[in-house]
Amino acid sequence: MLRNGQQHTQSLRDGRAVFVDGRRVEDVTTDPAFRNAVASIAALYDFQSAPENQELMTYAVRGEKRRANRIWQLPGSLAELVERRKALEAWTELHCGFMGRAPDHVASCVSGLYMGLDLFREYDPKRASALSDYYHYARDNNLYLTYVIINPQADRSKPASRQRSEYLSAGVVDRDAAGLTIRGAKMLATAGIMANELFVTCIAPLQPGDEKYAVSFVVPMNAKGLKILSRKSYEAAAPSVFDNPLASRFDENDAVIYFDDVKVPWERIFVAEDIEMCQKQFHATPAHVYQNYQAMIRLTVKLRFLIGLARRVADMNGILAFPQVRETLGQLAAEVEMVDALVCAMESKGTAFGEYYVPDRHTLYSAQVLTQQLYPRFITALRDLAGGGLIMQPSSFRDFGVPELAGLIELTQQSPAAEAFDKVKFYKLAWDAIGSEFASRHTQYEMFYAGATFVTKGHSFRTYDWAKATDLVDRMLDSYQLEAVRPPMVGVR
Ligand SMILES: Cc1cc2nc3c(=O)[nH]c(=O)nc-3n(C[C@H](O)[C@H](O)[C@H](O)COP(=O)(O)OP(=O)(O)OC[C@H]3O[C@@H](n4cnc5c(N)ncnc54)[C@H](O)[C@@H]3O)c2cc1C
Repeated sequence: MLRNGQQHTQSLRDGRAVFVDGRRVEDVTTDPAFRNAVASIAALYDFQSAPENQELMTYAVRGEKRRANRIWQLPGSLAELVERRKALEAWTELHCGFMGRAPDHVASCVSGLYMGLDLFREYDPKRASALSDYYHYARDNNLYLTYVIINPQADRSKPASRQRSEYLSAGVVDRDAAGLTIRGAKMLATAGIMANELFVTCIAPLQPGDEKYAVSFVVPMNAKGLKILSRKSYEAAAPSVFDNPLASRFDENDAVIYFDDVKVPWERIFVAEDIEMCQKQFHATPAHVYQNYQAMIRLTVKLRFLIGLARRVADMNGILAFPQVRETLGQLAAEVEMVDALVCAMESKGTAFGEYYVPDRHTLYSAQVLTQQLYPRFITALRDLAGGGLIMQPSSFRDFGVPELAGLIELTQQSPAAEAFDKVKFYKLAWDAIGSEFASRHTQYEMFYAGATFVTKGHSFRTYDWAKATDLVDRMLDSYQLEAVRPPMVGVR
């Protein structure tokens, strides 16, 4: 039996130490800062466990009687990869792509790590066995994982070991027969307040001297000494679903994690103080590709939603027939379809990695580079189409309850395509998607979740098949030689 929403919600009542607005949260499932986001994740678990979605959302685990969520599936062929994508797509449609760290993201990463088990065996059989056990444990218990893989921003011109405090970045403070003790911080656990467990490592290259930060492990969110420092809750600031239909329900949250001497047992440690292995776990296995392939699937859904908003704005304001508006919509449609096509391309250009089928690495990195630039442009184009209608809205749903104001709303909120109430409802949704504080955080998310642009462009540079391009240049160069110098033409000096 896969867990349902209620069971997942119950699993979060585990004494975790979440802090927000100067207080410790008693129960994230009921707290006004987080409860609706928790409910949105619960809805995903309900969807996966509904009998009618069994084929779509789950797969038969090879050699076992059980079924598991497809987020843990290890595709052996293009067909299986596409089946898995359809499950991820269906899940994403429930939040229209606004939950970047829904359970499918880090499950994809850990599944990719597991596909690279041989690398871990070469490194240390005990660490490989910890990873293998953990993959099965997380899959079979249908866990919700998130991750922190970046050291906190402080002085980026210096390595982790040369920051002002030795343990600004989470690192090993003690090692014994039972495991490692970790002290320090990591940014930025999206969904950390409502996941079950946390994958902790370092994806950015480390330097000699940084060994203590070169770890890879998992801990439950209620581990002793683990502190979850929430950013401002947009959900708490959005008590009405009508006024903020997205922020009120899909604010997945982001949190700084502080490890106050957290003890991690060896059974949950995959890399121990090894700089090279920290890098290889992402790039010499399918982990990085699988986690970011999931992100691209999510983004295709989100862009489809956003272009739906754009089209509706044009209808709402009676501007659809203007050639310039059609041009804008045509441009946006081309961009949405390009991202969709890139996902299909990374699938069909995929290759075998041992017994597994892995999306094409360079196509994925192309998509990352292009969409980091595309997203803010896309939002600006939507703002441009919408004009002041995004702002010309009643202060809150309460205005509808006052007859005098309701009459004035009726009079002032006109549209060729909708009644006043529906126009207000639509524009409040549009603002929450592209202009509110929640929306602004989303632009930052899409620009940075995969690393800053110099990082993604670096991946693209590193993985492009340069020989394919330079060979063409060589062939062209080889097709001609130095010619005999021609005599000057008559009359020309
Ligand atoms: C909304 C949101 C959610 C996130 N969620 C998660 C999460 O769940 N888990 C997680 O682990 N991380 C998460 N992150 C963190 C994310 O991975 C990082 O923001 C990203 O990797 C970039 O790192 P940084 O923010 O430290 O930026 P930096 O690396 O400090 O870069 C910021 C800017 O500084 C400049 N810069 C810095 N270094 C260089 C350099 N070497 N060369 C050239 N220019 C440079 C560039 O202009 C760059 O754009 C999240 C971030 C955001 C915004």
